[in-house]
Amino acid sequence: MAIDETGAGAPAREAGQDFIRDIIRGDLEAGRHETVVTRFPPEPNGYLHIGHAKSICLNFGVAAEFGGRCALRFDDTNPAKEEQEYLDAIQRDVRWLGFDWGDHLHHASDYFEQLYEWAEHLIKAGKAYVDDQSQEEMRANRGTLTEPGKDSPFRARSVEESLDLFRRMRAGEFENGTRALRARIDMASGNINLRDPVLYRIVNAPHPRTGTTWHIYPSYDFAHGQSDAIEGVTHSLCTLEFADHRPLYDWLIESLPVPSRPRQYEFARLNMTHTVLSKRVLTALVRDGHVDGWDDPRMPTLAGLRRRGIPAKSIRDFIKAIGVARADSLVEVAMLDHAVRAVLNREAPRRMAVLRPLKVVIENYPEGKVEELEAVNNPEDPEAGTRRVRFGREIYVERDDFMEDPPKKFFRLTPGREVRLRYAYFITCREAVKNEAGEVVELRCTYDPETRGGNTPPDGRKVKATLHWVAAADAVHAEAHLINQLFLSPSPDVANFAADLNPDSMEVLKDCRVEPAAVGSNFDAPMQFERQGYFCRDERSVPGKPVFIRTVGLRDTFAKVLAGKKAG
Ligand code: ATP
Ligand code: MG
Repeated sequence: MAIDETGAGAPAREAGQDFIRDIIRGDLEAGRHETVVTRFPPEPNGYLHIGHAKSICLNFGVAAEFGGRCALRFDDTNPAKEEQEYLDAIQRDVRWLGFDWGDHLHHASDYFEQLYEWAEHLIKAGKAYVDDQSQEEMRANRGTLTEPGKDSPFRARSVEESLDLFRRMRAGEFENGTRALRARIDMASGNINLRDPVLYRIVNAPHPRTGTTWHIYPSYDFAHGQSDAIEGVTHSLCTLEFADHRPLYDWLIESLPVPSRPRQYEFARLNMTHTVLSKRVLTALVRDGHVDGWDDPRMPTLAGLRRRGIPAKSIRDFIKAIGVARADSLVEVAMLDHAVRAVLNREAPRRMAVLRPLKVVIENYPEGKVEELEAVNNPEDPEAGTRRVRFGREIYVERDDFMEDPPKKFFRLTPGREVRLRYAYFITCREAVKNEAGEVVELRCTYDPETRGGNTPPDGRKVKATLHWVAAADAVHAEAHLINQLFLSPSPDVANFAADLNPDSMEVLKDCRVEPAAVGSNFDAPMQFERQGYFCRDERSVPGKPVFIRTVGLRDTFAKVLAGKKAG
């Protein structure tokens, strides 16, 4: 079931309570553990995305709530795909999200020697053997969901021979993929993960941390549970796709002299509409140039969300609101936007910016006169105070706020119509000046000096619209990037994602005008551009040429009305 913006469809539990927390509370109360130890175990083969945030908030969250600890452990067992850039980015992103692993920064590669010893232990116990089949042969003999697998011709190999070959694999005597170490479990098991899973592969590639020491690398299944045991992890929390691996996780823990007995629990991964949360696809988006890097503001990566101005707190709030359950669900991306607005509405200073400017000349305003008017910084936060904005004879308003021939219910500028300029004056549109092509290039207006501050004049005259504006004299030229959904379909087809990319995922407006205070504030705090949405200055913008990224729009009540009509 989809979880919508209001949280409807979320597991019916109090926010912050779920089955994982129940299990941990039960284990602590029953004395099965003295403390809770968790870990967040990313593979450093890409940047973290908002799905990972769910796992991070859960693992670090429960550790903090129950007075335990959570490690950051890199599952760096595949040197072919892993890079230092990712190791750095992951740490930066977890910290940014608000979590701290203290002294517990670990790498599966820290345990390579121990894991190797345990592999020999399995061989000596008759529980593992070296298989000379190629990867294709192994796959072909693995069987299917309905048919059992076939024993490898090397399955009966002696302990001595396997041990000798395994040592020579370690020494780098063989080519990639020519042999593998496999657990000897059950080729007829109903669970394919137990059909003699691969524990070690030959990979003759340098590793970012262990260099050229190793020519063999442990599989995820072999490294993961044993790393948990070494670190004293009590609750190994992972996503549902690992549920079928749990019997293997337990088999390895039971077969090895590991120092502790962790247990694995699975929860549903985060899926979000109009979003792909798969590192493989995100890597392809970057590699094929569909986006401008991992921190492109359209990306669902934590780096992209941060660059877009999304506060870390709103991600934590969002994750808390969607809850943790066993059943897969699809969360509306509007729910994330909702959490972002809730934070920014309280915190973001208000500024005025005109994204598509239309010049207005106020004919009865004295030439050369400039006055300063007082503007409220944040109506939600009196402490935020006020600022001064300049007003003059020439200003810019939003092009969309004028219509020559408006439909009913359009209350903004049109010839003969009076409106309020926020914090300034009432103005009346007298004439629209056009160019040769017939396009409106300027409005001629008059103002009423008795409405200073935007106040109702003594005769009590009312207007139905209040517009934002910026003074031409001190407006700063800026660019705005309006971020829209990266994918058109609510559930993008991962196999054919390129076909579903939204061609309008980023609208670039090159000729915006913003008030000077919009450029003076610091980079990472988004502002509300009145009537336009929340924007933050791109950290990549160069001095003198500010670029503002739209973090999220203001609530689009019209879209909601439409959606309501469709649904009704
Ligand atoms: P891919 O995106 O290609 O599936 P991955 O997300 O599994 O890769 P890892 O680095 O192994 O990459 O993930 C680290 C941890 O984050 C794992 O424990 C995984 O279960 C969890 N995780 C990954 N994606 C999500 C998600 N969408 N929702 C919740 N947890 C997730
Ligand atoms: Mg993974």
